[in-house]
Amino acid sequence: MKSSPSKKDKKKTVALKKTIAKKSAAELALPTAHNPFLDSVNRYFDKAVALLDHPTGLLDQIRVCNSVYYMQFPVRIKGDIHVVQAWRAEHSHHKMPCKGGIRYADSVDQEEVQALAALMTYKCAVVDVPFGGGKGGIRINPKNYTVDELERVTRRYTVELIKKNFIGPSVDVPAPDYGTGPREMAWIADTYQAFAKDEINALACVTGKPVGQGGVRGRTAATGRGLFYAVHEAVNDHELMKKLKLDIGLAGKRVIVQGFGNVGYHAAKFLREGGAIVIGIIEWDGAVVNPKGINIDSLNEHRIKTGSITNYPEAKTIKHGNTVLEHECDILVPAALESQIHIGNAAKIKARIIAEGANGPITADAEEILLKKGSFVMPDMYVNAGGVVVSYFEWLKNISHVRFGRMDKRFEEGSNTRLVNTVEKLTGKSLSVTERQMIARGADEEDIVNSGLEDTMISSYQSIMEIYYSNPKVKDMRVAAFVNSIDKIAQSYLSLGIFP
Ligand code: NAD
Repeated sequence: MKSSPSKKDKKKTVALKKTIAKKSAAELALPTAHNPFLDSVNRYFDKAVALLDHPTGLLDQIRVCNSVYYMQFPVRIKGDIHVVQAWRAEHSHHKMPCKGGIRYADSVDQEEVQALAALMTYKCAVVDVPFGGGKGGIRINPKNYTVDELERVTRRYTVELIKKNFIGPSVDVPAPDYGTGPREMAWIADTYQAFAKDEINALACVTGKPVGQGGVRGRTAATGRGLFYAVHEAVNDHELMKKLKLDIGLAGKRVIVQGFGNVGYHAAKFLREGGAIVIGIIEWDGAVVNPKGINIDSLNEHRIKTGSITNYPEAKTIKHGNTVLEHECDILVPAALESQIHIGNAAKIKARIIAEGANGPITADAEEILLKKGSFVMPDMYVNAGGVVVSYFEWLKNISHVRFGRMDKRFEEGSNTRLVNTVEKLTGKSLSVTERQMIARGADEEDIVNSGLEDTMISSYQSIMEIYYSNPKVKDMRVAAFVNSIDKIAQSYLSLGIFP
């Protein structure tokens, strides 16, 4: 359902549509981005709103970042006092709490955090997760700190967030991102609990926690698994495969993955298990390639043993890893950091499908080159949404205080067993013990989480592609995803009204 803008607003929208393609954000009196990542996110937004019919002021409100908290705090490191710089951005409060990861990297700055927070808003809307977008970052390279020092930085950051009400189960809920994982999330939860001892839902202040600390089974692998479901949908989309001149299905498709961290490792693993051949893995210190395929678990063992994927005996090591982005393949999965595909290398990329595991791995200028070449770009805001979908499930588990499957697993097994007994009696045939167990088995927490994730990724693919196929002005999947997302956010604002 569309909004009913006033005559004045309609006029403003028409005027905006005419100018938006030509004018920069500065000319529209909105903040201008200096960071190429934020600039790209804003440009994608502007491209999509030109196809939407909502009041200009409302679209401006959706585009801007609602609040940013910049902090500097001292931490004692190796006997010295270090001043640490950190941020938390809450891009949109149209749904609460805000949700988004915390990144530890040297490259973190305010605009990067704002870009990531904006993407979280659009991502949550695309996969129907009822949260606003947020993101946090600490400007440190975690490799330069001991575990003890990282714990001190993380706990102090959490205290700063608590002081300014930038964290809480109904306010703002962080999660892991680049450079952080379940360990950091457990420290955050523990610190928050110490300050909010009467808050019964305190554990829901952060997601991506270890399972023993209120986490949910399936969260660690969720982003890579979600990427797999997304790519699986695309390669089984007959119309799309015909357009890209590719065979239907994942079997035999050649895949290259950049980044062998949480997202990249799981994406590579699930794509391989689904029948694809992973022919290249790229890391910061080099890449490994093997046209016959790389065994992901064996490569991971090599990395754990030696500290690097390079010199893996069953593949060729390439010193300048990022050149492998340009190798011949069917599916390229950039899953490291933003702006990895840029105007300098976009024309050399040969992949037919690029599935954005990382946030913002393609700059807006590079995307134009890729689209002209006929590549199909599956956007981050949809492809890597698996993490936030399962974070939502973890948050639901924390506020309901019960493990998924706990109440109904046995009941389900009893019903299934009675059904199997009845079928056996009626047909006079009996099943083997293994067959009986397979059919009777009730769903446990991980089954429920994975099934919810799969259903979300499939239904979101269909909603986005419906826009892509039905509107001739929508030329790529990213614009379709933005249109889908912005429209939902606009509807939410319109039904909510503006306070006061
Ligand atoms: P991670 O820290 O677990 O892994 C990142 C990997 O990339 C590391 O192995 C690192 O060494 C490697 N890397 C760094 N620079 C590189 C370079 N120049 N070339 C190749 N590899 C390089 O981080 P992650 O959680 O996997 O996140 C990766 C990306 O996915 C980020 O953009 C993040 O925002 C996005 N993301 C993560 C999640 C999640 O659930 N973790 C969810 C959505 C999006």
